[in-house]
Amino acid sequence: MKILLISPSGIMYRKKGGIFPTLLRYAPLTLTTLAALVPKELEAEIEIVDEGVCVLDENIEADLIGISAITGTAVRAYALANHFRKRGATVVLGGVHPTLMPQEAMHHADAVITGLAYETWPQLLRDFKNGELKKLYTQPENINLSNLPIPRRDLLKRFSYISYGAVQATFGCPYKCDFCAVTATSKNYLHRPITDVINEIEALGSHLIIFVDPSPIEDKKYIKELWRAMIPLKKIWSGLATVKIADDEELMDLAVKSGCKGLLIGFETVSNEGTQIINKSFNNVSNYKEIVKKLHDRGITINGTFMFGMDHDDKDSFKRTVDFVNEVKIDLPRYSIYTPFPGTPLFKRLEKEGRILTKNWTLYDAQHVVYKPLKMTSEELREGQLWAWKQTYSIKSIIHRILGSGVPPYVPLITNIGYRYYAKKLKDFPISKMEEIQFKWNPNHDSDEYILKEEIA
Ligand code: SF4
Repeated sequence: MKILLISPSGIMYRKKGGIFPTLLRYAPLTLTTLAALVPKELEAEIEIVDEGVCVLDENIEADLIGISAITGTAVRAYALANHFRKRGATVVLGGVHPTLMPQEAMHHADAVITGLAYETWPQLLRDFKNGELKKLYTQPENINLSNLPIPRRDLLKRFSYISYGAVQATFGCPYKCDFCAVTATSKNYLHRPITDVINEIEALGSHLIIFVDPSPIEDKKYIKELWRAMIPLKKIWSGLATVKIADDEELMDLAVKSGCKGLLIGFETVSNEGTQIINKSFNNVSNYKEIVKKLHDRGITINGTFMFGMDHDDKDSFKRTVDFVNEVKIDLPRYSIYTPFPGTPLFKRLEKEGRILTKNWTLYDAQHVVYKPLKMTSEELREGQLWAWKQTYSIKSIIHRILGSGVPPYVPLITNIGYRYYAKKLKDFPISKMEEIQFKWNPNHDSDEYILKEEIA
């Protein structure tokens, strides 16, 4: 049996025609994990295609094709699914978007997996072998995260990523920010046994570890134990954290001792009114400056993410945010548009208010406006966001932020160069161009063919 696992890419993130540089890309974990979960007795040949780093051969043959999609890649995933099903392959869809929209995904696939697939994917493969494939496989309530197999990183294209060492220790998040697909897809906050995580890190060839956990520090006892256990490994790592990390001196010190060099922190907005609107009120804007200083003082660089277009945002919010980023010297700032992913409280609210402008999921990549903002037009929002990227990745701002943070400048310099390229190219992908490219995937139909609008959760 041959199994092909595909990670479709959004238009701006594809190898062919995309603008996201390799030096910002780490190896994906989903497909390598699915490959490792294939039962040995099936003796399957497995191939992985990540459209972010290679071009998919559409004539490729496989008995079963698994495609993992987020909302921004769902239309591409459906186009590929339709294509390969016509060629006789059995297609399974899973990932965040099929979890949010299983009915829609089922329309395009022979089977759909929702939630974490550690138990359902091997079961699905056995069912397929026995000719008993079901249409829907749902994550069981009590999922066992012990003794997970080591992801098959050997199946990835070498030298296509800045790091192969993506690892995940915790799953889900206890908070409920209104825009976030993490809480919309995972009911519980879970973690793996610490010895399993340590064994996996030890077995990795990579010195650089990327933790992909969306919200890892919410169980303090667990995360402190994990970071303590990592100290003897002498790895360096980066990952995500909420601003709450700065409330706990011991936690920050342990992060450093365990090898932490960089954290992605969702600041989201520089207005406390905004943090209330998005239901992230533990983000207290008055403390941001001090949080950044505490982490910089420990040599930790900050990948700070900010959103534009929340209901309190007006045309001045772009400048306020850029000024803040420059003032506190965020090492690697990133801007997105506040995006109502289906299944989230934000989507439901905007849908009720009649403010959703399109349900073409390709545009749900957090860089395009898909709803009606309150205090500006859609065009002003898009223009303001492009302006913020441009200002922030000017040479002047890069030098000011990197040299002023007090953290060694080498890695931030490289990543800033990567984002400078991305920031310059973003304007080349207006909605019209996105739709034009999407249309080429299936010239006989418009994008709505892929989307069952009435089934939005
Ligand atoms: S944005 Fe972060 S903190 Fe908020 S719910 Fe999502 S993962 Fe949790």
